[in-house]
Amino acid sequence: MSENKTTLAIIIPCYNEELVVKSTVERLLEVLNDIISKGKISSDSYIYLVDDGSKDKTWEIIEELHAKYGSKVRGTKFIRNYGNQKALIAGLLGVKEIGCDCVVSIDADLQQDENAIEIFVDEFHKGAEIVSGIRNDRKTDSFFKKYTALCFYKLMNILGVKIPPNHSDFRLVSKKALDILEKYSEEGLFLRGFFHELGLKTAYVHFDVKPRALGNSKYNFFSLTSLALNGITAFSIVPLRIIAAVGVLTVLGSFLLALEVLFEKYILHSAPSGWATLVILLAFFGGLQIFCLGIIGEYMGQIFNEVKSRPRYIKEKEIV
Ligand code: UDP
Ligand code: MG
Repeated sequence: MSENKTTLAIIIPCYNEELVVKSTVERLLEVLNDIISKGKISSDSYIYLVDDGSKDKTWEIIEELHAKYGSKVRGTKFIRNYGNQKALIAGLLGVKEIGCDCVVSIDADLQQDENAIEIFVDEFHKGAEIVSGIRNDRKTDSFFKKYTALCFYKLMNILGVKIPPNHSDFRLVSKKALDILEKYSEEGLFLRGFFHELGLKTAYVHFDVKPRALGNSKYNFFSLTSLALNGITAFSIVPLRIIAAVGVLTVLGSFLLALEVLFEKYILHSAPSGWATLVILLAFFGGLQIFCLGIIGEYMGQIFNEVKSRPRYIKEKEIV
């Protein structure tokens, strides 16, 4: 049998993952070798780790793994922590530069089912440019994370970004998708929205989520909120339109109110009472205005970040 020429790269963002990175890489090498032995991918396939500015021994372990497995295990290290999205982008662009036909991204804690990678590859061979991993459930997520995530996807759908719920960053993308990614210089690129919006042929594969074996989740309330806000403001301007619509409705409402007040004063000759109404309206519209300003501020912040066009991340080291 002639060797399959499809080179698969697996990228892993790692932030303080010294407890799991070795076992994860070894498990993924097993998975790679298994798919290679079935003739579905080339023996040049490899793993590429992005150390997102870890403060623990993650990078040393990556170097040890490279020394042991050679070009099967490559990687890069950021000078500081830039966040999981940036690490993923660096992984995608890094393997594009090294060379591959398709790339799978997976978390360092292997919460996603690594056995699904073979199914991703099968879908790629059937013609899919993007294979998206969809979680079967969110049993392993905290109550808070589960419901905020559901609300986020619901909101994104309402705002016109039709990402399927329970989406994840566990996905395969083809070289063609990477070529397009390279053209997007956006600093705050939200990958889930980006790959969905491309409109390339996409397949969906459901997988089971495992609990994190060791270490803690690297996300907290603030980083999740920031990811969600970035996702919305990077992909939808519907909130701005809603503000405009609310403004128009408010003006109409206040016009009717003014008519009523004038009617009471000049026709009925009764001084309009309504201290309570006044206070409630004042408080309500005060709150509404600040909320709307907050939304506009989010977009301004997005523009502020983009306009400076600083580099997305700075690499400190690279092993290829
Ligand atoms: N991660 C990263 N940079 C960060 C936070 C997380 O590269 O600033 C990586 C992390 O090492 C892991 C993946 O992103 O490989 C997902 O993080 P985690 O498992 O902590 O998130 P959760 O599964 O709780 O959503
Ligand atoms: Mg995890």
